[in-house]
Amino acid sequence: MKAILVTKHGGPEVLEYTEIADPVPGEGQLLVDVDYAGVNYIDTYFRSGTYASEPPYIPGTEGCGRVVDDPLGEIAPGTLVAWHDAPGSYAEKVAVDRNRLVAVPEGVQPEVAASMLLQGMTSHYLLHGVRDTRPGDTMVITAGAGGVGLILTQMAAALETTVYSIVSSDEKEDLAYKAGATKVFRYGDKGSALAEEIKEANGGKGVNVVYDGVGRDTFQFALEVTGPRGLVCSFGSASGDVEPFKIQELNQHGALFLTRPSLKHYVATDEEFLMRAQAVVRAIEDGTVRMRVHPPYELKNARKAHEDLQARKTTGSVVLKIERD
Ligand code: NDP
Repeated sequence: MKAILVTKHGGPEVLEYTEIADPVPGEGQLLVDVDYAGVNYIDTYFRSGTYASEPPYIPGTEGCGRVVDDPLGEIAPGTLVAWHDAPGSYAEKVAVDRNRLVAVPEGVQPEVAASMLLQGMTSHYLLHGVRDTRPGDTMVITAGAGGVGLILTQMAAALETTVYSIVSSDEKEDLAYKAGATKVFRYGDKGSALAEEIKEANGGKGVNVVYDGVGRDTFQFALEVTGPRGLVCSFGSASGDVEPFKIQELNQHGALFLTRPSLKHYVATDEEFLMRAQAVVRAIEDGTVRMRVHPPYELKNARKAHEDLQARKTTGSVVLKIERD
């Protein structure tokens, strides 16, 4: 089959389009023909070696496609499914754990299904896991027009919260407003000034929670914009890892809480996975979340997809389309 292979850590150039043997499903797995593979920021951390990975490996963990064969005969061949946590998804075929997939309902486009689970379940656990969101809550979301950013904003807006979104361009500002952000800001080089601007918009107070996927460049700002006893949720490092800091700073900024969560701990059991996956599918079906998928890249152009994602050129979710001869 055709696949993307990483043989050494590095930049997007280490993503090689190549021919490789089909995967062999293990126990509890089934073989799927991939139609679209989801591209996530975490894929760039594994590629660069920031997160532990052992080359050679095929990147990607989620996607959408048709079941080729289910050894247990429970799922009919041809059934359209979406999955999470199947390493090797940037390929024509992948072995998927039967407990980490959902059927794709009619009316949900395959490119949407391919990118809904990781970012959708992340948005879900951030709002219903890390913290129980209540109507009237105030929050800041950084990278507000990215894959997670747009879904998180829509889910949060539906819970009657106030969302201050931060983005880097006019197009992204427009998308963040359309997703339901109350007010959209730019990072600029404002630092503390941006925190003050947001507090002013928030009635002179810090916010209840900051959801920050940017990391190094926004961490100090996150401490400054959070109100007393509020939560700084640092869930990603698109700009690099947060520098070490003194925990006393949490006290100085108002007895803040800090968490650095990851999805795997919030879908730790199959039951929790199913609960969050079904909530995401429901939100898409009932229109609470309208997924925005960046124009798909062909599998062989995975390199370009990573380049654009890291150069902040994409909006919404990113997918690779697998074309078959
Ligand atoms: P995005 O689509 O949000 O892409 C990243 C965005 O980050 C860019 O579009 C850009 O938006 C912003 N950004 C700010 N500074 C930089 C920088 N220096 N370099 C690159 N991008 C920058 O990606 P995802 O939705 O896939 O992921 C968003 C974040 O959430 C990532 O940090 C990811 O690791 C994290 N994540 C964490 C999970 C968890 O469970 N902990 C699960 C899923 C994602 P702008 O131009 O508007 O600033």
